[in-house]
Amino acid sequence: MRFRSKLPDVGTTIFTVMSRRAADEGALNVGQGFPDYPIDPRLAGFVQQAIDEGRNQYAPMEGVGELREVIARKLAASYAISVDPESEVTVTCGATESIYDAIQAAVGAGDEAIVFDPAYDAYEPAIRLAGGRCVRIPLRPPEFAYDWAEVGRALGDRTRLLILNSPHNPSCTAIDPAELDALAALIRDRPITVLSDEVYEHVLFDGRRHASVLAHPELRERSFAVFSFGKTLHATGWRIGYCVAPPDLTRELRKIHQFNAFSIAAPLQYAIARYLRADPQAVLGLGAFFEAKRDLLSARLRGTGFRVLPAAGTYFQLVDYRDLGRDNDLVFADRLIREAKIATIPLSPFYAEPPPMTLLRLCLAKRDETLEAAAERMRAFSARA
Ligand code: GLN
Repeated sequence: MRFRSKLPDVGTTIFTVMSRRAADEGALNVGQGFPDYPIDPRLAGFVQQAIDEGRNQYAPMEGVGELREVIARKLAASYAISVDPESEVTVTCGATESIYDAIQAAVGAGDEAIVFDPAYDAYEPAIRLAGGRCVRIPLRPPEFAYDWAEVGRALGDRTRLLILNSPHNPSCTAIDPAELDALAALIRDRPITVLSDEVYEHVLFDGRRHASVLAHPELRERSFAVFSFGKTLHATGWRIGYCVAPPDLTRELRKIHQFNAFSIAAPLQYAIARYLRADPQAVLGLGAFFEAKRDLLSARLRGTGFRVLPAAGTYFQLVDYRDLGRDNDLVFADRLIREAKIATIPLSPFYAEPPPMTLLRLCLAKRDETLEAAAERMRAFSARA
């Protein structure tokens, strides 16, 4: 018997592909987004403490109560909003599980979901597995600007979900409150839910502030907002994220979550709760931390053939290699791995129909030495090109 694939055209994610290629070629990996420096030792200490205390059995399905309370307090401090930890917060296996669960809750057979390209690669397969169809609206480089009139034209009777992502991976742009107003006006009289991927909420540069859908009263009522402790606490391997949504949406999300991940690593949840209770300010320095890394990388790439694009947020940086070649980005990224021993992430896999572009994504969540070494190798490559 030939097993019938439900996702015949889906391969391995570009992040895994590039990380494997990096390992095979002995390249410096500034592709897949994960830190190469340690977590705060105090946080590690709280994990040990929770294990020693015996917090080693199933956590509550919806998440450890102490953690959900800390999350509600954190949201109040960041966005001056009130969130009920009992009925509106769910802890999930990374933000990715929140995204998957929210999509399964919102999209049914024959429904359409609006997604903006370049889109994070987890969205579309989840929509298709729910029986839905993705309507992809391209944001064109280098500005990656939203055309709300075009969005309006894409909405139809079958549209049930719209996925937003700000700060945006991989374009490094951020949405502003006026754009949320434009979106709210477009979907006001339609049965459309918003899924807002806000995992880089604390990583905004140059004094910008994050515009959360949760702080937009109209969108708040119809949105799943998704966040990530992996990004915020530099611990992507912990796989802890959470979803904030009104009680009726949360109820449906939890129906999926309870039969998917069911519950999330207990000691890690207790540890995060204690850590953030002990130091609620711990996450506030993230923007400045990554802004310094952005500026360091940018300074080190000056005068090379890699042009650094403006970055408003996320822990990524786009570079344009057009002065060094016109190969498509997959070919160029592979050349960079082989010839410069630098692994990056090409942008075309994030588009249904990639526009002509010569952009690569670099990860800023690296030690300064790593970023300096990467820039050095890129400078040498550029000099040879
Ligand atoms: N979020 C990470 C990135 O954008 C990738 C996570 C993954 O590999 N699936 O690099």
